[in-house]
Formats: sequence, structure tokens, C-alpha cells
Amino acid sequence: MTDYATTDVLVVGSGIAGCAAALAAAREGADVLVATKAERPADASTDWAQGGIATTRDSPESLKRDVLAAGDGEADPDTVDVLVEDAADAVEDVLVDTLDVSFDGGDGEGFDYAQEAAHSEARILHVDAATGHHILRPFLRLLDDHENVRILEDAAALDLITDEGLVTGALLDRDPETGERAGTGAPVFAGSTVLATGGIGDLYRRSTNPAGSTGDGVAMAALAGADVEDVEYVQFHPTAYDDEDPFLVSEAVRGEGAVLRNADGERFMPEYHEDAELAPRDVVARAVAAERDATGEVRLDVSPLDFAGEFPGLAETCEDRGVDWEAGIPVAPCEHFLCGGVAVDTEGRASLDRLFAVGECARTGVHGANRLASTSLLEGLVWGLRAGETAASDGREAEPSEPPELRDRDPDLPSGFADEKFRRLRRVMDEYVGLHRSGSDLERAQGVLRRLKGEVDAYVRTRTSRDLYQLRNAAVVGLLVARAASENPESAGCHHRTDEAAVEEAPDAGH
Ligand SMILES: Cc1cc2nc3c(=O)[nH]c(=O)nc-3n(C[C@H](O)[C@H](O)[C@H](O)COP(=O)(O)OP(=O)(O)OC[C@H]3O[C@@H](n4cnc5c(N)ncnc54)[C@H](O)[C@@H]3O)c2cc1C
Repeated sequence: MTDYATTDVLVVGSGIAGCAAALAAAREGADVLVATKAERPADASTDWAQGGIATTRDSPESLKRDVLAAGDGEADPDTVDVLVEDAADAVEDVLVDTLDVSFDGGDGEGFDYAQEAAHSEARILHVDAATGHHILRPFLRLLDDHENVRILEDAAALDLITDEGLVTGALLDRDPETGERAGTGAPVFAGSTVLATGGIGDLYRRSTNPAGSTGDGVAMAALAGADVEDVEYVQFHPTAYDDEDPFLVSEAVRGEGAVLRNADGERFMPEYHEDAELAPRDVVARAVAAERDATGEVRLDVSPLDFAGEFPGLAETCEDRGVDWEAGIPVAPCEHFLCGGVAVDTEGRASLDRLFAVGECARTGVHGANRLASTSLLEGLVWGLRAGETAASDGREAEPSEPPELRDRDPDLPSGFADEKFRRLRRVMDEYVGLHRSGSDLERAQGVLRRLKGEVDAYVRTRTSRDLYQLRNAAVVGLLVARAASENPESAGCHHRTDEAAVEEAPDAGH
């Protein structure tokens, strides 16, 4: 076997979930290697999270009710119990006491809890509308200084290494020993491997996620034989800036009173849902799409609030991008979050031995068919801590096994190869696996994606570039999403079947 590295716990990804897993494992005394393809820290959705992190205040039951209601009957009440029971302690221990995150109001009379769509009370801790940034940066600094943790930047996991159903580690495209690029993959063997690779935004033309969100963890786990669930539930955020290069306008802005208007200046949400702009995300996203189709444009009218005063970061982004927010911010739905992923239990254990998954790449059962605003950071924190602690306390040592043989015979891909394939993949996902789905469209999508995956696989057999593996992962996950959507004939939350007999909850476009 070629040279290899070993560690007690290998964490793949350095967003909130990966950082939490690394911290918890290190606290248990384990040696932790965090491999992240990010050139830190901005290449993680965590750094971009705006609205904040939900907590339970005095009523775990009330947060549980809201999470279950948003999940549209598909969330698992037992795992939601875990989320709400751990929430307050996890936030206080890690974010307040350990990282000293400067949540708004924290230095005065008490936290300034924000209200967001589909939350029945104000319970969101936030730092302006840049909460993720203020969490991730101190988190990475803390781990950098931790004697048990090593963070290897710009290092992508290409594949998991397995041995008869046991996950023994992963192949990285950077050698942890030398720090050099590893042309055919550097094996790292670990007692436990924790996937924390985030979302799948790169599968769609417009997404709120950072570039590189290609669903690597989901694809690697699925290819290794792990169970993947609920991936048809791809959440589209209703209020992203209406542009090829969108930015998110947080739910918190609607929480503070902003309203949606169509091109005729009419406020339409009250006709779609009794909670109007604060209805669940999937309802608002479909309503915005319908009104855009019918009238040509939807704007978020921020005149009811002191936008620049309450959301200075967002106001600045608007100004940087030449958006006159006083005239209303043009918005359209865009891909935002994957509710499903690698199926895990309450400790983050996947169906393969020694494999864990946490954060957006995992399916805990908390989100069901639709995620409640500001619960993703919380889920990543809670499950990250649980998985990291369990992985370390199992005390398993790395057991080197034979890694898959990767080839790098001809490293140069034909020019434009990855771009052209990604364009094709995104076109299919947008057209057939987007906000609205039908059986025939989903069949068509699977046909195209299967062919595309076949073409990519032919190159993967002789080349080992990160671009190619990301493309392979995106094709694998696209197929998984299309297949899951096709096999689920019932609309729920963000999975909306246009060919379902059931009556739709929203009126026709144009109201
Ligand atoms: C614009 C925006 C605003 C949001 N606002 C909120 C909010 O206010 N509240 C909330 O709760 N949620 C919010 N979300 C959702 C939330 O931010 C994410 O779901 C959450 O941060 C995901 O955390 P994570 O640790 O799972 O993944 P991420 O933070 O995305 O981190 C994934 C990490 O994995 C690395 N990685 C990926 N593939 C590989 C690989 N093959 N090898 C090595 N490393 C890899 C990436 O480089 C990255 O470091 C928002 C999301 C976006 C995009």
C-alpha cells in the first residue's frame, strides 16, 4: 500500500457541523483531522448564514410544534425532541460560553431575539444579519488553537475507503503529511469518519449556497452503500435577489414587516396563506414564482421597516450590487437547502459502520419536507456535538485497508468539459426537478442524468481531478434527488407534484 496518514476522527468539512463535531471529539481527547476543500472560511454556507440560530427560550415544546408544522407531516417527532432538548445547552455551552459570540443584545438587558417566518415567537439569536460569519470565524480560530485538532485546508475528500461495509477513512486530494497536492488521492485512515460537507446548491443554476456545494458527502456515502433519505425535499428560498448571481434576503426582513408585491404593486401573500409573508417557505416560494410568472416581477417592499438601520449588512449588499432597495428588492425563489441526505440516527451514525454525517448533508428527520428558518445552524451544532462525542468515545483506532486505486493517466480534461456538463445538469435540475415536479418530467430528468453520469464516469476511470469528482458527485446526487422525487407521488412541503390528484393549497397565479 502507498503511504498513508491515520487519525482517530476524520471530519470532512469545516462549516458549523464539522466544527462542532471536531470540537466534541477533541474534548473527548481524540486526535482530529478536519479536511476541508474550503480555502477558509468563506466557502461554507455557515459563513453566509444571515438570520440567526433558533433557540428554545422557555418553551422547547413551542419550537417543536413549529418545526413539525413546517415539516408538513414528514418530520420525525423523536428527533425533533433531541433538537429542542439539546438546543439551549448547546447554544450556551459552545456559542455563548466557549466562542463568546456577540449576539445582539447580549451585552445589555438580554438577547434581542428576532422573529422569523413560521416561528410562533421571537426566538432567533442573531448578530445583525450576518450570524454565521460571527459564529464560524471564532469557531475556526478555536479549533486552530486546539492541540488535538488539525485543519487541512483546500483538501477535498474524493471517496470514502471501505472494507467489507466498514468505513475505514477517505482519500483526499491533498496529502496531510506533506501538505502537497495528491494526484491520485492520499489515503487517511480513521477510527471514525464524519461527513459534514454541506448542501447541493451547485446542482441548480441559481442558489444561495457558495460555489462548490456539490453534495460530495451525500454522493460519497451513497456510492459506498450508505442509506440516503428524503432528498426529494430540496428547499427553495422565496426571497433571493432576482438575478443570475443571487443573494439571500433573509426571512428576518419579512419577520420585521417587509411585504411582497407583484408587478402591479399588489400585496398578494394574504391570498395564499393566512400567515401571509410569514407562511412556510415552500408556500411563499411557490406563490412568488406564480406571481412572477403572472405579472413579470415580485419585489420585497421594505418600506414598513427601518431597513438600513435594522439590516445594515443587507442594505450595504444592495448598494454594492446597485439595487435601489427603497424601490423594493426584486426577488425570486432559488435553491437554498437540502432537507434530506445521508440517513443518520440521533448520534449522527450512518448505516455503514464507523461513518457519521452531520449538518446539511445529513438526514436526521428534523426537517421533514420543509425546514423551518434558522434551524439549520442549530441542527448542525446539536448533531455535530453528538456525533463528535460518540465518534471519539467509541475509542476506535484507525484500521488501514486497501484504498481504491485512482488513476491520473491523463489529468487534463477536454477544455470546457466540466462547465458544459454542469450547464446540462443544472438545466435538467431547474426544468424538471425544481419547484414543480411531474412524473414524466422526473423520468426525463433521470434519463438525461444517467447519460451524463455515464459520460463523467468514463473520465473518472482515468483521471482524478477535483473538478471531475465534484461533477461526478453532482450527477450522483442529481440522480438521487430525481429518483426520490419520482418515487414519491405525494406533494409535501418543498416537494410539489403537479400531477398529484390532491387539491393544491394555493390559488391560481394572478390573484
Ligand atoms: C445565504 C445563506 C443564508 C442562510 N441563513 C441561515 C440562517 O440564518 N440560519 C440557519 O439556521 N441556516 C441558514 N442557512 C443554512 C445554513 O447556513 C446551512 O445549512 C448550514 O450552515 C450548513 O452547515 P454545514 O456545516 O452542514 O455545511 P457548510 O457550512 O456548507 O460547510 C460545508 C463544508 O464542507 C466542505 N466540503 C464540501 N465538500 C467537501 C469535500 N469533498 N471535501 C472536503 N470538504 C468539503 C466545504 O468546503 C465547507 O467547509 C443559510 C444558508 C445560506 C446559503
